[in-house]
Amino acid sequence: MEVTVIGCWGAYPKQNEATSGYLVEHGGTKILLDCGSGVLSHLQNHCSLEELDAVVITHIHADHIADLYSLEFAILILTQIGKRTSPLDVYLYCENPDKLAFCFPDYVYVHPIVIGETVSIGTVKLDFSENVHDVPCCAVRLTSEEGRTLVYSGDTGYCQSIIDIANSADVLLIESSFYNWQKGKMEGHLTSGEAGEIAASAGAGQLVLTHFPHYGELEEMIKEASRHYDGPITLASCDMKITI
Ligand code: ZN
Repeated sequence: MEVTVIGCWGAYPKQNEATSGYLVEHGGTKILLDCGSGVLSHLQNHCSLEELDAVVITHIHADHIADLYSLEFAILILTQIGKRTSPLDVYLYCENPDKLAFCFPDYVYVHPIVIGETVSIGTVKLDFSENVHDVPCCAVRLTSEEGRTLVYSGDTGYCQSIIDIANSADVLLIESSFYNWQKGKMEGHLTSGEAGEIAASAGAGQLVLTHFPHYGELEEMIKEASRHYDGPITLASCDMKITI
């Protein structure tokens, strides 16, 4: 299984980059995790839109969903001109998917994510858990046919459920919205120290921090996480690939 970081910024994209978006590939299966601002353009450096099988949306904050409606238009047009032959499956965690602004139900199939129900997309199985965030938000555990695992946190505050779903994951890709000095100042997100604590408690094999703030020295986040977790730690970056 291979993950490509399409975007790693919280809130808004850095110049020429993107907010949350991660392409997961296994065999011929191609899954996009979140589709924030700038993701649709950058995704095409790594995957043609004709080949994308599914999108998984952890929650409906703009930095995770902003480009999804443009992607819907892309699927419509690519189908009309004969370049794409199948609809796009969108798995989505929110209170009421019927209220979202999708316009073309024949081209984008929306599937509500239900915690506790496993989803199969091609050769990958996905499980979900409930996060602590100010809108409903889920974490995702992806398991390949070979049993290799990636856990992506989406957005969350510190909670037992993210530790549980990350249990023994080969790679934990987890949000790190704040530095340690900001701990307790805003709920529903993690500091880098907390991300390290979660990786240690879960026994994750590798920690990748993401969903960054636009200030401070991001390298500090590795130091803060490493006080709790002694495995390998990296900062996500645009176009970075992780083989799992
Ligand atoms: Zn959010």
